[in-house]
Amino acid sequence: QTKGTAGAVTADEVDSLVAHFPPCMRHLHMSLRHDKHLRHGGRMQYGLFLKAIGLPIEEALVFWRRAFANMTEDQFQKGYAYNIRHNYGLEGKRADYKPYDCMRIITSNPPSTGDHHGCPFRHFSSQNLEEMLFRYGVPQTQIREFTNLVSEKHFNVACTRLFELTKKLQGADASALVRELITHPNQWFEASYKSSK
Ligand code: SF4
Repeated sequence: QTKGTAGAVTADEVDSLVAHFPPCMRHLHMSLRHDKHLRHGGRMQYGLFLKAIGLPIEEALVFWRRAFANMTEDQFQKGYAYNIRHNYGLEGKRADYKPYDCMRIITSNPPSTGDHHGCPFRHFSSQNLEEMLFRYGVPQTQIREFTNLVSEKHFNVACTRLFELTKKLQGADASALVRELITHPNQWFEASYKSSK
C-alpha cells in the first residue's frame, strides 16, 4: 500500500489536493484535465509524484483510466496500464521507482511541443510564466523579482519564494513551513499539506 503524508489517497481525492501541488504538478494536472491525456514524460513525472503523495496502485489505475476519458478500455489496458503498474514496481524488473526531484525535472528530458512535463520556472516562456505567477496572486510589483531569479537560473529559489508568498497570502507563517530551499516537488506538497491540518 502506498501511504504518503496525506495517508492513502483515493482517485476521487486527487482534485481536492491540487491546491497543495507545486506549479509543475499543478500544470500537469490541469493539462490532463483539459486534454484528457498526457504524453509519456508527463505521465512519468506526474504519476510518480502521485504515487509518493499516497495514491496506491489500485487507485492510480482508476485515476488514469477516468482521466483518459476519450480512450477505450482496450486502448487503456494495452497502452497505459502496464506502465502504471511498472511505476509501482509490479512489472518488468520490479524496481520501486522514486518520484523525480527538481534537479532531474529541470536538467533532463526537456519538454517538446505538446508535452507538459518539466519545471515552469525552467521551461515556460516568460509570458506563460508571468501569467502563471499572476494566477497565483503574485502582485505585479513582485513579478520582476521572479523573472530576475529565473534569468539567473535560480529556479528552486523562485519556486521557494512562490511557496512563501502564496502561503503568506493565505495568512500562514511561511517561514515556519519551508526552512530550506524546495528541491523536490513532494517537499512542496508535504509542507503545504501539513500547513492545512
Ligand atoms: Fe516543480 Fe521543483 Fe520546478 Fe518547483 S522548482 S516547479 S517543485 S520542478
